Amino acid sequence: MKYPHIFEKIQIRGHEFTNRVVMGSMHTGLEEKTDHLEALASFYEERAKGGVGLIITGGFSPNWTGRLTPFAGDLCFPWQVSKHKNVTDRVHKYGSKIFLQLLHAGRYSFHPWSASASSLKASISPFKPRSLSLWGIRRTVRHFARAAQLAERAGYDGVEVMGSEGYFVNQFLSLKTNKRKDQYGGSLENRARIAIEIIQAIRNATSEKFIICFRISLMDLVENGNTFDEVITMAKMFEKAGVDIFDSGIGWHEAKVPTIYLEVPRAAFVEATAKLKKHVQIPVMATNRINMPEVGEQILSQSQADFISLARPFLADADWVNKAKSDEAHLINTCIACNQACLDHIFQNKRATCLVNPHACYESEIKIQPAPQKKKIAVIGGGPAGLQAALTLSQRGHDIALFERRTELGGQLQFAAQIPGKEEFHETIRYFRNQLLKHSVKVYLQAEIQKDFSVKYLESDMDSSSRPQSLNEFDEIVDAMGVVPRIPKIEMANSHPDSVKIFNYQEFLTTPQKVAGPVVIIGGGPIAIDVAEKIVKEAEKIDFAKEWGIDFSGQLPGSLAPALKTPSTISITLCQRSRERIGSGLGKTSGWIHRDFLKRKKIQLLTGVQYKKITSEGLLIERTSGDGIMKEELLKAATIIYCAGQESSGLFPEVETKLHKIGGAKDAQGIDAKRSIRDAFELALKI
Ligand code: SF4
Repeated sequence: MKYPHIFEKIQIRGHEFTNRVVMGSMHTGLEEKTDHLEALASFYEERAKGGVGLIITGGFSPNWTGRLTPFAGDLCFPWQVSKHKNVTDRVHKYGSKIFLQLLHAGRYSFHPWSASASSLKASISPFKPRSLSLWGIRRTVRHFARAAQLAERAGYDGVEVMGSEGYFVNQFLSLKTNKRKDQYGGSLENRARIAIEIIQAIRNATSEKFIICFRISLMDLVENGNTFDEVITMAKMFEKAGVDIFDSGIGWHEAKVPTIYLEVPRAAFVEATAKLKKHVQIPVMATNRINMPEVGEQILSQSQADFISLARPFLADADWVNKAKSDEAHLINTCIACNQACLDHIFQNKRATCLVNPHACYESEIKIQPAPQKKKIAVIGGGPAGLQAALTLSQRGHDIALFERRTELGGQLQFAAQIPGKEEFHETIRYFRNQLLKHSVKVYLQAEIQKDFSVKYLESDMDSSSRPQSLNEFDEIVDAMGVVPRIPKIEMANSHPDSVKIFNYQEFLTTPQKVAGPVVIIGGGPIAIDVAEKIVKEAEKIDFAKEWGIDFSGQLPGSLAPALKTPSTISITLCQRSRERIGSGLGKTSGWIHRDFLKRKKIQLLTGVQYKKITSEGLLIERTSGDGIMKEELLKAATIIYCAGQESSGLFPEVETKLHKIGGAKDAQGIDAKRSIRDAFELALKI
């Protein structure tokens, strides 16, 4: 077996875990209503069938006050037990274990009745919590115990007490949010008191077999947070109180440090878990950016943790564990840590799903059924839309041929993968390539489709006689030809010499080169920001931890050092016609990371710009100055890069009934991989 440590069994309180893989707690948007528990059961069942050893549910509050939002999920009443029993039965059917996460949101609650250790508003919630009275604390402790008791009756094997990410329990543990003067505030022992009482109350309210997992905030990553030494002292107290497993929490939700986004290196925080493991006798779980079996195997084999906990990777691929077990890791659909369809959806009050797996969280509504009639289908374009269409159509039993003009598959994914931090897109391409092979999709590279649907094979010495010569021989055609960069019409000075190099973003990303500064980027959207970051990150050696001020020494409060503020060594200007703030359209959970980076690197951001002319010295623009008057300005540039949006490749008008356009070929406006893949998936379910 390739991953022996992952598949080593372990016993805890008489329960046998068949492997060391945990599907970590993740809010899906299905926890809100008891009615949604059927969909949630299907979602978990799919992952249990996929072989995961332990599932930890999304957070359920032990009482009404602790709900994340007014209608968020809770477990407070006996009548809720039967709905949860359906969840646990369907998971147990496949031999997996399941814990319910008890999450009291405290001051992170989005309702006016929130309560916390002290009455201090969080920067991420509009509501100021009330400070819990001593009576309120005793009641809350009882509510945790009651919820755990109900969870046991519902068949859960244990609970996870959410003691990290800046939620209620964590708010008591930290001096940042706990300003109490009574026995629950001040000293470390006092701050830890409520957590100890909750653990003991759960222990007393449940059977000997019931497991208590505690998610401990190893690194708060906020000012005035706990030092690592304090965390260790508390961990020992919690272990003594009755905790059976520690899960690792990294960073509060209000932290200004990325902890799970794609630019965080794989397993970046495992060092903190490894340190905890040395100080406690019970199993510990490593978390954050563990997305492939080889990463998990390395952590376990080096005894840095006893379990590996993955959350988003199980949205990307329900069969992650079974594929690892059967030596098919090359078929895993890897989570690329983009947050675009999971966390960003949750923050928009939408159901979570996954950019690379649009089926995620829709398992009960959408079934990939065999097609009623097998058809011969041509897919034009090997970018995200074409790849997804070819895969889903072939899974439904159609006979698929995919035509790609370039020498390799991937399309826009190949461009994205050139951005430092977005290398995970290579995994997406690898996944599709291997899946197409497995499903016998015929892939024709360097095959250019002409307007009359004939196929021109670009490789000169290729014998193409046995290959399709025209798409007219297919029953259906899917146009997934994607987009081409939009080139704005800007006057070029007659004397324009070679002193200014001009690229569109595709040329820039695929031509290895040393960039000469100053650089002017025309455009202010996500691609422009990616290009700016690539220039900076390739010019400097960026150390993730140092860049963001993450301290692993264990001595600093909140494990936080000052973030680096050194400006970019290359002068870069981003300019756009619109007056909107640059970066305002980025995702809620990642936009701030990019905006912060641009700010710290002192990248100039100009909005409301009119492009006048490209000269031998750079880009001549016009924009409103401080006194409200439009003025001309020369942006000196040695390099100009067009990132001014995209246009549909537009080869085929939609005249043929058998031609289906998807992704950027259908609508280039704001197109991204998420929409391309979903569009393709939806079409492929219909043919
Ligand atoms: Fe991972 Fe992105 Fe899918 Fe979320 S949307 S699970 S981050 S690949």
